[in-house]
Amino acid sequence: VGQSLSAERLQKAIANNELLLEFQPIVSRQPKALKKLEALVRWQHPVLGRVPPGDFLPMAESDTTTMDALTEWVVGAAVDAYQALAKLGISVPLSVNVSAQNLHDLSLPDRLEQRLRAGGMPARHLCLELTETAAFENAAHTMDILSRVRLKGMELSIDDFGTGYSSLKMLRQMPFSEIKIDRSFVSDATTSRDSRAIVKSIIDLAANMDMACVAEGVETEETADLLEQLGVRDLQGYLIARPMPVAAIPTWLAIWMQGGSVTPRDQT
Ligand code: C2E
Ligand code: MG
Ligand code: MG
Repeated sequence: VGQSLSAERLQKAIANNELLLEFQPIVSRQPKALKKLEALVRWQHPVLGRVPPGDFLPMAESDTTTMDALTEWVVGAAVDAYQALAKLGISVPLSVNVSAQNLHDLSLPDRLEQRLRAGGMPARHLCLELTETAAFENAAHTMDILSRVRLKGMELSIDDFGTGYSSLKMLRQMPFSEIKIDRSFVSDATTSRDSRAIVKSIIDLAANMDMACVAEGVETEETADLLEQLGVRDLQGYLIARPMPVAAIPTWLAIWMQGGSVTPRDQT
């Protein structure tokens, strides 16, 4: 597998269109609304089959050219999906995940803007998700790029929050518009007092800093109820929906809006 999953092979996969995106809804239950779709990349390898991002992203991370090519592909495919949904009357913001590697290039904000313009997608409908560690590796440079992204009207989310080592001071200085609570705290919230306290603190932090707050990895009704009690309304996780191809979104949305329960098992 080592040889077949090189950075070089991944670049070829991008060129050969072996990658695909799935989309996972972020919703509020009260009031019932689809808030956003997060784009998640997959590799349909001709021999190995479906390769999850955890198996090939580390390789891309080690090579800036590959990571830039990957992100460019992801953003392009996300814009295409946005257009496809818009044609069906579904206008919903998208999130894409961006790597620390992508933040080396000062032209990133301009390139994103051009791609959005070409696809007729408003900048405010694109949200970039960055992990804490990615965001704070080189604070001054990161700040420069992120400020440009925000000036262009795109949203910025801090992913897997609580697992990194950022200082609150830095968090305050960075122009994030949203915090995503890491799923490790979310899944433990109903059983662990500590996790519950952490979740509550993150919710308060987001509120005090005028940032939106999303809980990821919501798998049970009990967790969703607790999160809503604690004050997070935007939920993402298998309880709501698994990641799915863009073509499956309209049907999922219709069923979910009607209150039909689509169990995780029905969707795989
Ligand atoms: P992430 O951005 O934190 O994405 C959430 C991950 O959690 C996804 O895994 C998703 O399928 C999974 N997930 C969602 N809900 C639940 C749940 O209720 N329970 C559990 N156990 N898991 C849940 P996935 O798709 O394997 O992605 C893993 C990571 O790979 C992502 O974490 C993200 O950091 C990275 N990634 C995915 N797509 C891209 C991409 O296009 N570019 C970059 N740079 N990174 C990406
Ligand atoms: Mg993410
Ligand atoms: Mg996450």
